[in-house]
Amino acid sequence: MIPYGRQLLDQDDYDAVLQVLQSHWLTQGPAVPAFEQAVAAACQAPFAVAMNSATSALHLACLALGVGPGDRVWTSPNSFVASANCARYCHADVDFVDIEPETGNLCTTALAIKLRQAAAQNRLPKVVIPVHFAGQPCDMLQIAELAAEYGFSVIEDASHAIGAHYQQQAVGNGMLSDITVFSFHPVKIITAAEGGMALTRDPALARKLQLLRSHGITSDAAELTEPSHGPWYYQQQILGFNYRMTDLQAALGLSQLHKLSTFVSERNQLATFYDSQFAGHTNIVPLHVKSDRHSSYHLYVIRIKGLSRRQHKACVEFLRGKGIVGHLHYIPIYLQPYYQQLGFHPGHCPNAEHYYAEAVTLPLFPGLKTSEQQYVVATLNAFLSSI
Ligand SMILES: *Cc1c(COP(=O)(O)O)cnc(C)c1O
Repeated sequence: MIPYGRQLLDQDDYDAVLQVLQSHWLTQGPAVPAFEQAVAAACQAPFAVAMNSATSALHLACLALGVGPGDRVWTSPNSFVASANCARYCHADVDFVDIEPETGNLCTTALAIKLRQAAAQNRLPKVVIPVHFAGQPCDMLQIAELAAEYGFSVIEDASHAIGAHYQQQAVGNGMLSDITVFSFHPVKIITAAEGGMALTRDPALARKLQLLRSHGITSDAAELTEPSHGPWYYQQQILGFNYRMTDLQAALGLSQLHKLSTFVSERNQLATFYDSQFAGHTNIVPLHVKSDRHSSYHLYVIRIKGLSRRQHKACVEFLRGKGIVGHLHYIPIYLQPYYQQLGFHPGHCPNAEHYYAEAVTLPLFPGLKTSEQQYVVATLNAFLSSI
């Protein structure tokens, strides 16, 4: 089977992990800060806080920004459930802003309209979480302008988008948001097996994220509320979690980070090849990448026009039957039973639902061969001419 995405590891990665395994520290050692500093430097952000997943990083990003019961958090319906669940962990209410069908990203026109209505009803969101779908950054300038106008905070869910650029600037630099989150799950751009990271320009937010990551505990003399009892002393100051990344994971992540730009350029080359194959097709429309951004191409998504629901399903089944893992990113989050139980109904975001009826994710990962891409294209064409 050709998967839709997978990691690419080499001897350097194996050596990096083995070196930690044979060292004194399996966790809470030097590899985690080394990985954090390297990601921060790569993205030109002053602070980066590693965690055991992007889901954890999104949760703590919400907490650090003060999200709590009664608050509202808005995100894109075209994302993995974690983009919305993070707000539910904080007992906040979630809502969804419809997407632009051409990019799959949150639509800033829809956002502006929804904000105007919410302002009139005194129901503005505390946080908005744009998701850089498939690796393409959202319209961050417009989002930052709306954030300033309406007074909400912004968490970029950049789980797909380490290595991407917006107006020549690295995603994660934090110039247009409060916190940016990356994922290092094996299907993402670089992997730490499991892992995530939250980047920010704000030192107070960074410290809050660090405290929350490890039980809310500090032993920093400057932060203690009473004199230290002795060398063993620490204080739990807030209710935190154990969301730490291990040194084994950080060593793998750091080794992978060295290959980030190679991975992203290979993903772009593979996407360009698919684009060229679909250029003459009127009913196959690849995602559009806007001219002022560079996608990290976590996913290669096409929209197939004119298929019925049954044909759309048959298409992905046909690919799978031929050894190709076609996939679909994403089911609109609010259509999940959990969110429908909270009161969401079909029709809430029409563009996201229309997109869901057309989208197919094709295999894209470093190491995918041209012959495999040709096979994917030929198989897709065979399906389309069979219907
Ligand atoms: C993968 C993903 C997450 C969750 O990442 P984990 O590291 O697996 O917790 C969150 N948001 C989006 C958009 C993702 O694709």
